[in-house]
Amino acid sequence: MPFYKNNNNKLNRSSDYANTFTLYKRVSEQYNDQSVLDYVNKLIPKGVSEESDNGQSLKPLLHWFKTDFMKWMPKQLQCVACTEIGSNSNSTKIMTAQVIRGDSKIRRKSEIHTCNQCGSQVFFPRYINIVNIADTRIGRCSEWSILFGAILNSLSIRTRMVHDFLDHCWNESLIDDKWIHIDSTLEYPICYDHPYYYEQNWGKEYKYILSFSESTLDDVTRCYTEHWDTVQKRRGKMKDKLQEYQMIYSEV
Ligand SMILES: [Zn+2]
Repeated sequence: MPFYKNNNNKLNRSSDYANTFTLYKRVSEQYNDQSVLDYVNKLIPKGVSEESDNGQSLKPLLHWFKTDFMKWMPKQLQCVACTEIGSNSNSTKIMTAQVIRGDSKIRRKSEIHTCNQCGSQVFFPRYINIVNIADTRIGRCSEWSILFGAILNSLSIRTRMVHDFLDHCWNESLIDDKWIHIDSTLEYPICYDHPYYYEQNWGKEYKYILSFSESTLDDVTRCYTEHWDTVQKRRGKMKDKLQEYQMIYSEV
């Protein structure tokens, strides 16, 4: 029995990685697609893009994106209809989420949130396609980072996706020949060049943090930890996973 259990877990793990890698490969390809970059570039207000020129100061761009442009999609929704009807705070109704599988090009999956009380539904498509994300302007860290990375690339600031495999992702931009941590979901100045923030404040216990380009992925974990020895111990037998990850990435 344990043999089968382990085997299944292993299969599930590697297909999880394949799904994540597929997403970032398709995103990285779009970061090199001029028609996508032209589309997202037109969304930036003129004053904001001028101030952000060459990455000298990304503060106005980050502020505009977080405050004016994007909306956050909570993991658990409360039914708006039932909340409006109810007279006290206990009447807010939590919705139940169902996930439906999508495809590897446009939409990786969709969520349908249903209110158990009144049956109201909210549909949340999780797009791979950057133009769709730009049109819907809503999401969680993936949608925010995927789109913000495209916006930076459209300003000729070379930017890639980074994923920590602990339910968070962000961007890195090449500024003055150095890859800088950028997280459009966070407030300024934490959102810019604060790589240890997650470990210090969210208690993250990393094994691997990977960055993604169109052709390959890299291990950038060391840039985000002040406890490299602990990370290496945590990896244990996983120590040389990078080559395996790169091989999976080359095939998706
Ligand atoms: Zn309801």
